[in-house]
Amino acid sequence: MSIAPPLYARPVREAASAAALTDDERSRILAKSAQFAPPSAVLPDGRRDLVGLSRAELTEILTEIGEKPFRTKQLWHWIYHQGATDFSRMSSIARPLQEKLAERFVVGRPQAATVQTSRDETRKFLFRFRDGQEAETVYIPDRREDRGAVCISSQVGCTLSCTFCHTGTQGLVRNLGAAEIVGQFMAARDSYGEWPSPKGETPRLLSTIVLMGMGEPLYNYENIAKAMKIIMDGEGIGLSRRRITLSTSGVIPMMDQCGEELGINLAISLHAVRDDLRDELVPLNRKYPIADLIAACRRYPAASNARRITFEYIMLRGVNDSEADARELVRLISGIPAKVNLIPFNPWPGSRFQPSTREQLDRFAAIVMDAGFASPIRMPRGRDILAACGQLRTESQRARRSSGAPGAENT
Ligand code: SF4
Repeated sequence: MSIAPPLYARPVREAASAAALTDDERSRILAKSAQFAPPSAVLPDGRRDLVGLSRAELTEILTEIGEKPFRTKQLWHWIYHQGATDFSRMSSIARPLQEKLAERFVVGRPQAATVQTSRDETRKFLFRFRDGQEAETVYIPDRREDRGAVCISSQVGCTLSCTFCHTGTQGLVRNLGAAEIVGQFMAARDSYGEWPSPKGETPRLLSTIVLMGMGEPLYNYENIAKAMKIIMDGEGIGLSRRRITLSTSGVIPMMDQCGEELGINLAISLHAVRDDLRDELVPLNRKYPIADLIAACRRYPAASNARRITFEYIMLRGVNDSEADARELVRLISGIPAKVNLIPFNPWPGSRFQPSTREQLDRFAAIVMDAGFASPIRMPRGRDILAACGQLRTESQRARRSSGAPGAENT
């Protein structure tokens, strides 16, 4: 007679994929990502969008039109500190140069195709980019204080097909460019009139960024990194790295680079504590399994007791919400400066999961909390406008590509 193994005897596979950490693997991911590159930032009339350029790139194109490098600082101030989109508003620049700039450049924004404000004041923007593709951005105000988080998309659609996520049903259309990523934040600030950029400790209404919208940000790393460097630049928007959190399903080779280069906070979409279940819920787990993912979290450079790694855990009734799951979660993350966000599942049309009961949520949270980890239950925001976690989806479709073009698989 065979004896069934205890439920959690071997929940995770051995950490074996050292190859995942090689430069080759990073290069492969970056090369694949480049196949989904955004369109050029040049308009049909030949003018170029200045948003999304690094300082060095801005200096280069100003030099090309015969302007001195100090103009970069001036323009940077007007674009990112003052939020100006019109060169004629840039009063420290003489009129002839304003006109010269306007002939050649624009300071662009994505177009808000729709803006919906929820009963709980969460605001969802559907932004349309120059090629007609769309992505969603959500502003989630803090209900007790005058601040809030802007949830930004990194891709149009997503390649990862997490089974609980509406965006995942869409497939990957393309990556968003740095201008489109920064542009989401700037356009959201336009909507609240939050210009010029507040300095230092001055309170901000749009006070944090979470890269948790549509897409897997670490499959669009170069554009994300460029955009975040622009947003963190102290002479412009000046948002601290401590106020930016990138959420990944676990693209391990890029996690290391993100920590070293950007030093922003990390959130992990964990959602399961056994490989067999996580393989199903977050299919990327087949490539980068739980043991490797947890090891990468342990060495994440920007993590500390003051800046904990967030583990996102969507609570699915009867799937991943047992007390045994909670205990295994605690064992897995033991020793990591971490908190656990428990996210009640937000149903979307056609989804096959049910949210956990309130009692089960509370039991799960209590086990995690008793082990010394904060375990807030994230009450869904913006549910009436489908703005809650995992509910974002657009009607954007990938343009038909000629034969030999890359497939949707980005992993
Ligand atoms: S949860 Fe994130 S990574 Fe997974 S399909 Fe949805 S958008 Fe993509």
